Parts: sequence; C-alpha cells; structure tokens
Amino acid sequence: MDLPRIFTIRESGHRIHNPLTPAKFATLGESLRLAPGTRVLDLASGSGEMLCTWARDLGFTGTGVDISTLFTEQAQTRAVELGVTDRVGFVHGDAAGHVADEPVDLACCVGATWIGNGVAGTVELLDRSLRPGGMMLIGEPYWRRTPPDEETAKACHATGLADFLPLHGLIEQFGDLGYDVVEMMLADQDSWDRYAAAQWLSMRRWLDQNPDDEMAPEVREELADEPARYTRYTREYLGWGVFALMKR
Ligand code: SAH
Repeated sequence: MDLPRIFTIRESGHRIHNPLTPAKFATLGESLRLAPGTRVLDLASGSGEMLCTWARDLGFTGTGVDISTLFTEQAQTRAVELGVTDRVGFVHGDAAGHVADEPVDLACCVGATWIGNGVAGTVELLDRSLRPGGMMLIGEPYWRRTPPDEETAKACHATGLADFLPLHGLIEQFGDLGYDVVEMMLADQDSWDRYAAAQWLSMRRWLDQNPDDEMAPEVREELADEPARYTRYTREYLGWGVFALMKR
C-alpha cells in the first residue's frame, strides 16, 4: 500500500503538495480563528506541513494519515524539525473510511477528495470524525475558466469537464450538502507555479541522478511535455482552493 512512485519523483522536493504557498497556509490557519489546543484530523496529510506549522504557530494538536510512506516519514521529520512532536503525529495508512477515535474540532482533507469518492462523500467521511459545531477543511479544484471542450478538460489532467465545477458552483454544492462556507483560501497562478513548476526541477535532478532507472523514459517524456502543457492548460483553466465549512 503506497503512492505510485511517479508522485514521489515529481514531488520529492515539495513540503506542500498542493498549489498553496507557506504564506497562504499561514493566513488560512489564522483566518479560522480557532483556539490553541484545537484538535485536528488531517486525512491525506502528505508531508505534514499544514499540521506541523499550525501546531507551531497556532498551538493546534492532531493526527495526519497518508498512504505514502515517504511523505509520512517526511512529515515525522518535519515535526521534529519544528519541535512539535508532542502535539502532532503521522500515521501511514489508507484514509478512505478513516474515522478518529475521539471527535476532533477540525477535520481536513486538503487535495484528496477521491478518498471519499468525491466532495460529497468526503464531507460525509470528515463529518464522522467531527464534534458537533466543529469545522471542516476541504481542498478541491474548480474551473477557473470553463474549458471550451472535453479535450481541454483532459489536458488539465481531469477525466472530463464534469470532474469539476466553477468556483460558485463548488460553493453552491457545499451549501446543498447543508454546510455554510465560512472561509476560503484560493490558489492563484503564481502559487500554482510553486506546486507545478517546482516539479520540473525535481524531475530533472532525478533524471540526472537516475539515468538508468526503469522509470527514466517516462519521466524524460513528462519533463519534455509538461511545462508547455501546464502553461497552456492547467495554469489557465484550473483553480484550486481550501474551503472551511460548518454544518448549518
Ligand atoms: N494534504 C497534503 C497532501 C495533498 S496531495 C498537502 O496539501 O500537502 C494528496 C495526498 O493524498 C498525497 O500525500 C497522497 O499520498 C495521499 N493519498 C492518496 N490516496 C490516499 C489514501 N487512499 N489514503 C491516504 N492518503 C492518500
């Protein structure tokens, strides 16, 4: 049980595996106005940057669950670096169906709503770990500009146009699920570049160091195509944001 290797090649140099910058994450954390001691569950916690920095800066405590052994190790290392091992812990595991033993104040899934088969299922999953009156964070793509056709949607690494909604549509969906959207932090094109463009140098360095690896041809092809594809499609059409929700 692990994340396919291509992801860890592309994102080996990332602390944040989504299109928000450290500054945007810090602002988001503060914007939630939650007290020190807030208990967090973070499903698909990646390398743990959100939980570790919020533990350091805001006094939150909690657990992250992620299917990547490498990212989970990086999260554990980061907790040591930031001196928050007494507040946060990271577990390697499948987050699909994961429910906290004790209800938490803040339940998060930032950039992995497939663990609940989409937004609605992930909201339901997080709700099972949340105390009444608690807050939820969902990180999810939306169409910044609606692609003119299915081809363009697929070029954004979507399976089709129907994968995502425009921003107002996504926000309406949260409302239809019975939640108030109480805060949000959106990526912009520059912060997307920190996520996407940073992968190119990681791929290049990996290729230079692993020319004979069985994955080298695939990585070589991706590095050759990805910068033009990303700038033509994803950077223009795909938005991404984290939405804070409270049940009505
Ligand atoms: N929330 C983190 C990571 C987002 S990237 C951040 O914002 O930095 C998506 C993450 O989902 C990756 O870390 C990947 O390993 C994890 N993931 C994918 N499928 C998963 C599953 N079934 N259970 C737990 N984690 C999963």
